[in-house]
Amino acid sequence: MSPPVFRFAPSPNGRLHLGHAYSALLNADFADRMQGRLLLRIEDIDTTRCRPALMAAMRDDLAWLGLAFPEPVRRQSAHFADYAAALDALRERGLVYPCFCTRKAIAAASRARDPDGAPLYPGTCRDLSPAEAAVRIAAGEPHAWRLAMDRARAACPGPLTVESFDAAGAFTTRLAEPERWGDAVLARKDVPTSYHLAVVHDDAAQGVTHVVRGRDLDAATDLHRLLQALLGLPAPRYHHHALLLDEGGDKLAKSRGSEPLAALRARGVTAADLRARLGFHAERPANRSR
Ligand code: GLU
Repeated sequence: MSPPVFRFAPSPNGRLHLGHAYSALLNADFADRMQGRLLLRIEDIDTTRCRPALMAAMRDDLAWLGLAFPEPVRRQSAHFADYAAALDALRERGLVYPCFCTRKAIAAASRARDPDGAPLYPGTCRDLSPAEAAVRIAAGEPHAWRLAMDRARAACPGPLTVESFDAAGAFTTRLAEPERWGDAVLARKDVPTSYHLAVVHDDAAQGVTHVVRGRDLDAATDLHRLLQALLGLPAPRYHHHALLLDEGGDKLAKSRGSEPLAALRARGVTAADLRARLGFHAERPANRSR
């Protein structure tokens, strides 16, 4: 049997903070214990927010933590054509449609919420005639591409499940409910893919068998399972870890200015201190690359 494959998949749109360190070290810990490989994937589809300097700083922070990764490291921005091909395959089956709505219009038209708390898409563009959609696209009107959830679900009848593993190696299975996401965006107006499409594509392309990531992505896994089924991709097993909270009880986030690892480093905190503080062994085989 081939060894398990893990991945740490940060977005270089800010400096890494303690929460990223925890996620990266937990991935490394699982990979060590299960004699697997840990890959790094740079999720930089948002090319305006993800800057090369931030990517370099991120690599530097990870090296400081004692983590090394097999090269070449996959950068999503180098694979837009692959995501477009996956979207084309869904388009040919009539499972996606163009959406011209603005965020404002969606917020005004929708009271229901998706699992992330964002307005659930009310379906405004779902039944536009292909002719009208083609005219608007040809006129250069900005548009996203949305999954037609009803049709997608009908294309994958039967229960979909999420298989999870815990720190003791035990498995649990739960039912996936992708419908809760409604007609999710698979390609944004400004970016020719979305997180959801790119992540399921890449987990399969990289042979990822075990996904370890924060609990904030647990609900998204339901949608990922549907996309995997639609695209004929294998399903990894998942472990969604608890999120580290700041003193105010909010989850750590770049957007809230949580203290970056670089600031801890500057204050003289060592990587060994940090590992111990996060509950990991202070020592790992130095710069081990699997
Ligand atoms: N790129 C995502 C983030 O930085 C993580 C995606 C994932 O692990 O699936 O939040």
